[in-house]
Amino acid sequence: MLLLSKDTKKQWSNWSGINKTTPASWLTPQTEEQLVSALCHSQGPVRVVGSSHSFTPLCATDGTLIDVGHLQGLVSHDADLCQATIWAGTQLRHVGQPLWRLGQSLINQGDVDVQTLAGACGTSTHGTGLGLGSFSSFVRGLRLVTVSGEVIEANDNENTDIFKAVATSLGALGVISQITVQNVPAYHLSQHEYVAPLDDILDGFDQLCQQHRHIEFFSFFRANEVIVKTLDLSDAKITPSPLIELPVSSILNVSSWLAHGVPGMSAKMQKLLLTCQGQTHKVGPAYEVFPSPRSARFNEMEYELPYANGVDCLREIRAVVRKSRLRTLYPVEFRRVAADDVWLSPFQGRDSASISIHQHVCADHRPLFDLIEPVFWRYGGRPHWGKLHSLSAKELAPLYPHWQDFANVRQRLDPHGRMLNEHLRKVLLA
Ligand SMILES: Cc1cc2nc3c(=O)[nH]c(=O)nc-3n(C[C@H](O)[C@H](O)[C@H](O)COP(=O)(O)OP(=O)(O)OC[C@H]3O[C@@H](n4cnc5c(N)ncnc54)[C@H](O)[C@@H]3O)c2cc1C
Repeated sequence: MLLLSKDTKKQWSNWSGINKTTPASWLTPQTEEQLVSALCHSQGPVRVVGSSHSFTPLCATDGTLIDVGHLQGLVSHDADLCQATIWAGTQLRHVGQPLWRLGQSLINQGDVDVQTLAGACGTSTHGTGLGLGSFSSFVRGLRLVTVSGEVIEANDNENTDIFKAVATSLGALGVISQITVQNVPAYHLSQHEYVAPLDDILDGFDQLCQQHRHIEFFSFFRANEVIVKTLDLSDAKITPSPLIELPVSSILNVSSWLAHGVPGMSAKMQKLLLTCQGQTHKVGPAYEVFPSPRSARFNEMEYELPYANGVDCLREIRAVVRKSRLRTLYPVEFRRVAADDVWLSPFQGRDSASISIHQHVCADHRPLFDLIEPVFWRYGGRPHWGKLHSLSAKELAPLYPHWQDFANVRQRLDPHGRMLNEHLRKVLLA
């Protein structure tokens, strides 16, 4: 008998709490065989969930929710190619150490490491750095279980069309059970954070990208200085963990309540947070240095723009928000991501600037996001699939040269649209 845990009354919620549903059945397969069985016996709209860190309702369903969190760990590795095959439900924070023991590291990572590997690929999750692509661009092969229970191997040599479609597929083509990832030899990183004038950073950003393996900055709407974060390869001595950690989450929660609740406090709190930011420095294995704590909850919108448009777009966003009376606290995050050739990756075919807007959950994010989103459109932006946006397939299709290729694969693998919920119908079906 197959052991498949089935929970029928559990509510599902994403990380920020903006999406909630109660699936009729919540299945947690422990093996690929159980995953096949789960898909063959599934009812209603079938959705697959990783760590629920997407802000868009990609995983919401009142039918069957398949949680792949038990499909975790390392499957195998190839030392010569510096590749590893990993169970798709493995959280990134459980990938770093096993790879380190094999002498490998992930090429790049984003702000946090709680996402699952398949969830990160599902939306083209990314970090920052010249020539460094998103997680989907590191995928060298995968195993996909379709909604009818067929197991398909896809890579550059077999099922190549499925491979190009699945590497960023929002869980709309089936459930990925294993992913083979291209890695690099294990490396240490040295992190520096400092405050600098916005204009200096914008004018010199191209050069800074050449100088640092990773660079990003955080720009408060009502301040003219930014927090810059760089990460570089290092063989310096590993820094010990600090004895006392700042209660960042509490500071952000209190600052947000003040900024949003008390008239005139928004700009003051932004300047205060900027002054609290001293010069920080940390050295350690890459997988320990990449992630930062993100425990104060927020909602987020992010667009990926042709790289050349990034700076002008940011300047216009700042001007628009500064002219408005909106209260904000969180800074805008500005990153750089390399082009890839994954059909539905927002980075497909273009080196990109990535701009993210955040609003603490104590405030309604819609006025801010509605104000800024048209600016992103004017600069040719493609939305991050996992972050809030208002586009539907009609607007999205012209942004993706391989839109129809993806649609053909989706139609072939799931002709009855069983893996589509309301949100996916809106964004994928024209
Ligand atoms: C605090 C925070 C920080 C973040 N930082 C970044 C960042 O630095 N960079 C960035 O780009 N994004 C970032 N994000 C967004 C996040 O990385 C993405 O939304 C990511 O997709 C979430 O991964 P997950 O494992 O939680 O997947 P989920 O949100 O659970 O799912 C994401 C998509 O993947 C699909 N999926 C999951 N598992 C499978 C599977 N086995 N097979 C097929 N499809 C599957 C789901 O159906 C869904 O469509 C952040 C989000 C939060 C909340």
